Amino acid sequence: MKREIKKAVRFLNQGGLVCFPTETVYGLGARLFDEQALQKIFKVKNRPMDNPLIVHIADLKELKMLTQNFPRAAFKLIEKFWPGPLTLVCKRSALAPALASAGLKTVAIRMPNHRTALELIRALGEPIAAPSANISGRPSSTRYQDVVRELGNKVNMVLKGEQSELGLESTVLDITRVPFRILRPGFVTLEKLKKVLPNICLAAKGKNKKVLSPGVKHQHYKPNCKVVLVEPQYWEKTLEQWQNQKTRLGVFSYSKKIPNFKNIVFNKMFHGNKFEMAKQLYSYFYDAEKAKVQTLLVETIEQKGIGLAFMDRLKRASA
Ligand code: AMP
Ligand code: MG
Repeated sequence: MKREIKKAVRFLNQGGLVCFPTETVYGLGARLFDEQALQKIFKVKNRPMDNPLIVHIADLKELKMLTQNFPRAAFKLIEKFWPGPLTLVCKRSALAPALASAGLKTVAIRMPNHRTALELIRALGEPIAAPSANISGRPSSTRYQDVVRELGNKVNMVLKGEQSELGLESTVLDITRVPFRILRPGFVTLEKLKKVLPNICLAAKGKNKKVLSPGVKHQHYKPNCKVVLVEPQYWEKTLEQWQNQKTRLGVFSYSKKIPNFKNIVFNKMFHGNKFEMAKQLYSYFYDAEKAKVQTLLVETIEQKGIGLAFMDRLKRASA
């Protein structure tokens, strides 16, 4: 791996793009302090220019350099959750490039809990800006082979790793005002955050509210088939409706095994394990595409704990 990391650092220093594994999803990285390389990230992903990138760090010195007026209370969160799947939206210092922040006065920062990711950042010796490694609007990539297929010919290198352990993107928490607010739910749940700082809340949503996290207003996570949400009590009805239609069906069920009707070509059951469902969601989206699924029926789960993040992604995949 050392040799691969060296090679990746060389590409980054030449202004190139390197995809790398993290515990949440794979990232598409560039040097934070290379404006042209940052431009390339937006271009390669076809990412709207108003959607800021997450800055990945390996040392708290980097947090200090990139932020100002950092609230003391947030150190409690860092102590508990870093390295890990929690992104902090902080006031940006003059050293943090505006482009990575899409012009906002804030910067989103996280320390990934992944050996390869940390080794890469440390070997480079500076922060790496990295959104998820996927074309904008598509599902995030959680496996090496998905990154290679989606972006392999558009980046300089893809660092190899295992399937992402968590499989959903980080929790994004705005700490620029009190109470701190969750802009995007993730693996670090509201319940877990509240145990450390009880007044943390979910950001209010509403048509007239200013968009706080630009990424959440864009279409996202969509595989190239129709995604239909099924509440557990409606499986029978839903299957009745679809089983005689001329469509290649896929199913992801959580509470019970769905029998293989003649038009079901892809059938996954999660045996009541929410974490497994979250971990596999994107990889199974890609597998369903490979199986040429046209309509994918996915069981909904309760929007509590990790279920909140899971349903956030699922609803947007089906929108
Ligand atoms: P991705 O890395 O592709 O998962 O996307 C990063 C997410 O973090 C998007 O939803 C962004 O909108 C969000 N984000 C990044 N920087 C900021 C920021 N400064 N303020 C609010 N949200 C941010
Ligand atoms: Mg993304």
